[in-house]
Amino acid sequence: MPRSLDYPDMDKILSLSKRRGFIFQSSEIYGGLGSTWDYGPLGVELKRHVKEAWWKSVVVDRDDMVGLDSAILMHPRVWEASGHVENFSDPLVECRSCHRRFRSDQLSEDKCPECEGTLTEARNFNLMFRTYMGPVEETGQEVFLRPETAQGIFVNFPNVVNATRKKLPFGIGQIGKAFRNEITPGNFTFRTREFEQMEVEFFVKPGTDEEWLHSWVQSRFEWYVSFGIRRQNLRLRRHDPDELAHYAKDTYDIEYRFPWGWGELEGIADRTDFDLQRHDQFSGESLSYFDDESKERYFPYVIEPSGGVDRATLAFWLDSYDEESEQSTEEKQQGNIRVVSHLHRKLAPITVAVLPLSRNERLNPTSRSVYDLIRRNFNAQFDDAQSIGRRYRRQDEIGTPYCVTVDFDTLEDNQVTVRDRDTMNQVRLPISKLTEVLHDKLEHGW
Ligand SMILES: [Zn+2]
Repeated sequence: MPRSLDYPDMDKILSLSKRRGFIFQSSEIYGGLGSTWDYGPLGVELKRHVKEAWWKSVVVDRDDMVGLDSAILMHPRVWEASGHVENFSDPLVECRSCHRRFRSDQLSEDKCPECEGTLTEARNFNLMFRTYMGPVEETGQEVFLRPETAQGIFVNFPNVVNATRKKLPFGIGQIGKAFRNEITPGNFTFRTREFEQMEVEFFVKPGTDEEWLHSWVQSRFEWYVSFGIRRQNLRLRRHDPDELAHYAKDTYDIEYRFPWGWGELEGIADRTDFDLQRHDQFSGESLSYFDDESKERYFPYVIEPSGGVDRATLAFWLDSYDEESEQSTEEKQQGNIRVVSHLHRKLAPITVAVLPLSRNERLNPTSRSVYDLIRRNFNAQFDDAQSIGRRYRRQDEIGTPYCVTVDFDTLEDNQVTVRDRDTMNQVRLPISKLTEVLHDKLEHGW
């Protein structure tokens, strides 16, 4: 689909997100809470579809994958073993005059960028959120909100091996919330303190890890393309050796060209056997693996494709936005610019909109019964307010791939018109064939 825009204006996206119910500022009536966001009625559907597409692609469709949903709260020793207590920090400085805090590695001078005041020495600021288990803060046990979903997978490795009898290579996928007390969050939903991850830990025999790393890099990159992100707005970036996390041997980032610059959507890391070794050591339980074929016992190496749900959702949303001026159909008379979101048909919040030609009473029973038929099969919306042209535009703007129109001919011939969002082509179909045809289009496109 050729597009008019390389990427959209962020202010337009922010206003559209709020106006149509994709994303709202959290606690807005109280003035908001820094860098936290809520997904509205359409945003929650879009985000849910992103997660479903990921889950199907990396868990359901693969024989070498299983799923997991582990708790956010974990034993505090987990974070000692993982290295988060020791290493998961940013260097923080504070201004002696205005008391604002900054990451020292992001400052170009050694004075406050806000008021030019002098700064304190840098100290390490741990990014994990702390809280207490039990009713009394003083005597309660200090626990952390997990900063990544990965550790829930590692500590369950023996449970999953025993329960499923899976043999290497195999992986465990998980989607869930994680929390990082970032010093400088920002850029809408790109960097937030509360976020959702979709992660795989893929366990392999040491020595085969490099091959598996490349295979995952490839398939994860193509996943974003297959759900509609334009190839020219994606790139792969390998980490420099000095940039690698303490547990990683090699890492590739899949980056998206956001309006403010390139940013990470997903990192694919070779975590070696670091985590399993450490949990084996810290827990005293065995996390090694017995290989039936080679009759050896060893710690598997781990390939970790770790993506951000919120970032992916934002990238799909941004990349699909377009403003079309010269459309060569009769619809162009409705206005000279068509705002349209070309969201992939499986990600769009609403799949099918049912639009009666008018609010005429004679149309109503048939329109309602068509809507009932559609909503049993698809995410659907019924809209009979304002002119049909306006309603097409409202659906285009939120990315609804198919609109079904019921008109007066329908009452005679039991046929409806199906309109395609991208081409604006219309075809007439018998109601009896409607769900079958729409299912087929949803699976294969037009
Ligand atoms: Zn200052």
